[in-house]
Amino acid sequence: MAVYKNYIGGRWISSKGGLFDSLNPATEKSLGKFQKSTKQDVDNAVSAAWKSYEKWRDVPAPRKGEILLNVAQLLKENKERLARLETTEMGKVLAEARGDVQEAIDVFEYMAGEGRRLLGSTTPSELPKKACMTFRQPIGVVGLITPWNFPIAIPAWKMSAALICGNAVVFKPSSDTPLCAIELVNILDAAGVPKGAVNLVTGSADPAGTAIVSHKDIRGISFTGSRDTGLWITRNAGIKKVGLELGGKNGIIVMDDADMKLALDGVIWGAFGTTGQRCTACSRVIVHRKVKEKFTNMLVERAKHIRVGDGLKPSTDMGPLINRAALEKTHHYTEIGRKEGAKLVCGGIKLSKKGFFFAPTVFTNVQAGMRIAREEIFGPVLSIIEVSDLQEAIDVMNSVEYGLSSSIYTQNINNAFEAIEKIEAGITYVNSSTIGAEVHLPFGGVKQTGSGREAGIMGIEEFSEIKTVYVDYSGKLQKAQMD
Ligand code: NAP
Repeated sequence: MAVYKNYIGGRWISSKGGLFDSLNPATEKSLGKFQKSTKQDVDNAVSAAWKSYEKWRDVPAPRKGEILLNVAQLLKENKERLARLETTEMGKVLAEARGDVQEAIDVFEYMAGEGRRLLGSTTPSELPKKACMTFRQPIGVVGLITPWNFPIAIPAWKMSAALICGNAVVFKPSSDTPLCAIELVNILDAAGVPKGAVNLVTGSADPAGTAIVSHKDIRGISFTGSRDTGLWITRNAGIKKVGLELGGKNGIIVMDDADMKLALDGVIWGAFGTTGQRCTACSRVIVHRKVKEKFTNMLVERAKHIRVGDGLKPSTDMGPLINRAALEKTHHYTEIGRKEGAKLVCGGIKLSKKGFFFAPTVFTNVQAGMRIAREEIFGPVLSIIEVSDLQEAIDVMNSVEYGLSSSIYTQNINNAFEAIEKIEAGITYVNSSTIGAEVHLPFGGVKQTGSGREAGIMGIEEFSEIKTVYVDYSGKLQKAQMD
């Protein structure tokens, strides 16, 4: 059995905290042993990061960009291998895993280009012979804590933005996908990222994650994960620059004038793609009562024919859930849905003894206030909620605590713009599913989904500080607001 180590200061190092396994969720076979990092490992990683930061910060940003382009190139060369590895460790079907690696390639290419921008601004002064401008500066050492559902793309979003801005990082991946993290760090190293600029510590939330969050020498935390962990981080990070990308309870509105076939494709993809384990997954269909019965019948017919299995098999449409706890949680929510009085019309069952497979599940007659319609399940469970008009649809959409992604299917431009204006979410799609972010646009949500935006230019905001500069070339003391 392979034993994988932490990567600290450019060296692969064992922890004294012991080892843990990462399992293939389709077979439950171990993929290797990984370090259970301790607080001491985190301290070592932080020291190594600061040491490297002093040099990395001074590398001209276009030169940093060249290194990020090398990363993109190596990811391209290794795309198929990485995608297969990701399917093996995380479970998503191979086509989706290829998409995840492609997203990492895209974001490294995008952020490489930022190396020739990193724009500040200039503005006139209120006084003569005085120039006013802003520059971007790195934060310093930042902690990156990531989930398992996009085990290559999400770390890539964070690392590419952090590095181009001149930060050094301490990276703790999910304990469900440490092997993907190790492979990504190997690629960064081979691409020429200086030793110590990226440090990897694997291991559990406590002590490895908590040590990063509360570390006095870490100046920024970029976290993607659940709402509850995000809340904990808010309370324990102290005064740091914190970015939080948290959960969702995303909905698709299907109006009576929608293209039904198109809406069906979007709902199936949004609800059952990645086994419903995307922060942007569709877990609520908010459907106009005039088309509810027709749409429900079409939906159930399609959901029943989704082929569930090992994501490496070409015939598989939907892979397993990430682990046993996720399987039990998803099953538990179907019990909750039944008890709340919703009607189970498809699925609701675990599918095998080995592997964490769950059937695509659809509930109808769901009321907006039910737990299955409000809480993030993070599995292939879809609730159908009937509404009478657009206003009611928007009210239902906004009735949850989260606000990440949303969608409306309609042929009516007035409906579309009303929804864009009134839906409380970071992302609204029109005539497309809730999933499908592109890396040059901002990504993030409102309400309990968190704070900040990643990707695009907003990713740069998250990983840089603004320095305001005044240059007075008048040769005399000029007093703002007084002269
Ligand atoms: P999670 O349980 O919150 O874990 C995320 C990461 O945080 C893991 O690395 C975890 O370590 C670590 N962690 C947990 N508790 C911690 C603590 N107290 N201090 C420091 N680190 C801690 O979330 P998950 O189950 O991996 O991911 C699923 C969630 O992520 C869903 O809610 C989903 O919606 C959300 N998500 C959001 C986005 C977005 O962009 N908005 C994208 C993807 C996923 P261990 O693995 O060792 O426990």
